Amino acid sequence: HLFSDAAEVGAVRSALLAWYDSCKRELPWRALAANEPDVDRRAYAVWVSEVMLQQTQVATVINYYNRWMQKWPTLQALAAASLEEVNELWAGLGYYSRGKRLQEAARKVVSELAGRMPRTAEELQKLLPGVGRYTAGAIASISYGQATGVVDGNVIRVLCRLRGIGADSSSPAVLDRLWDMANVLVDRSRPGDFNQALMELGATVCVPKAPLCEECPVKQHCHARRRRLAWGWPRCRSAYGPTATSALVFAGAGGCPLCPPATEPWDSSLGVTNFPRKAAKKQPRVARAATCVLERGGCRGAPRYLIVQRPSSGLLAGLWEFPSLPLAPGLQEEKQREMLAGHLQAWGGRPVAAGGLRYVGEVIHIFSHIHQTYVVYSLPVDEDVTLDAALSPSRWVTEEEFHASAVSTAMKKV
Ligand code: SF4
Repeated sequence: HLFSDAAEVGAVRSALLAWYDSCKRELPWRALAANEPDVDRRAYAVWVSEVMLQQTQVATVINYYNRWMQKWPTLQALAAASLEEVNELWAGLGYYSRGKRLQEAARKVVSELAGRMPRTAEELQKLLPGVGRYTAGAIASISYGQATGVVDGNVIRVLCRLRGIGADSSSPAVLDRLWDMANVLVDRSRPGDFNQALMELGATVCVPKAPLCEECPVKQHCHARRRRLAWGWPRCRSAYGPTATSALVFAGAGGCPLCPPATEPWDSSLGVTNFPRKAAKKQPRVARAATCVLERGGCRGAPRYLIVQRPSSGLLAGLWEFPSLPLAPGLQEEKQREMLAGHLQAWGGRPVAAGGLRYVGEVIHIFSHIHQTYVVYSLPVDEDVTLDAALSPSRWVTEEEFHASAVSTAMKKV
């Protein structure tokens, strides 16, 4: 499975780089990385884009990236920003701790590293909070030219297909081999371009559901395609374990840790998408919360809504929301209202009648690991309601201010 033939490694490198040179998408962080003479600013731009791109589509990221770089063009500018500003700009991008950690790391570079970014993948990972092996490799190869590989979801898919790796691609043993392979493959003179080429191939050609194999620059080297075309598997010369020293045929016959398990044979209706294989995903946790939109008429009739700030750690840390309350499973509607009314009393400083809460509907939002339902109520209140400063921060906002605040997509749906 591994790339052990130098001629083949050379052929894959040149095919990928030539394809990247002619087919790559024009993206703002690539333009900056290509033209910016200051290497640390280059690294900062790559870093911001890589963090935003984790779990998020390129098309969504572009607008956020441009606004971010306009507001904080340097690490120093980001370090001087407040977390509230970071959350406001990040609102809607999801996985909010990413923005927070990016800013914490920027502050560390400014205050502890004299404003100078670490320049190798090892140091980046070691010294910067929130920078994992992938992000460190991307920054070091693209900005500082270090010949180090990267492995993200796109690379996993491409390499598993290219080399017929059918063992669980999320297992540490397989991931280790994929990192080894990425480090062997990476082009020594153009490591950043090579890594981006591999990821670009996964994002645009070797896509999860309907890969464009006939347009693929490395199709001649692809084991999954070879199997799909019924040319048979290449021989697996696995050197793992005493029973696996001779040439073995793919399909796990000889206990090779990278071959597809014998219990999960090739499904010809899936073609190359037989790879990569993953262990079944854990079911998301189901959660319910009652939430209430308190509304009061504002001056000249513009209504205002009450939003409160979430705690500074945990899910959606520091973001603003309508007053909400987690609900125990199976709680009856009447009880739900009573509990919510009791909770709201604290904010409004006066009794709230459960019967005054108007049921509006339910909003479902899927977080990465939580299937969340918000049971939404509304409540009109008088002008003179005052907020208790001893509770968590809260404020009245117009609809426009609400959308400009650090609120999650789930709350916008509410
Ligand atoms: Fe992916 Fe198809 Fe290319 Fe193989 S030939 S790497 S499956 S796009």
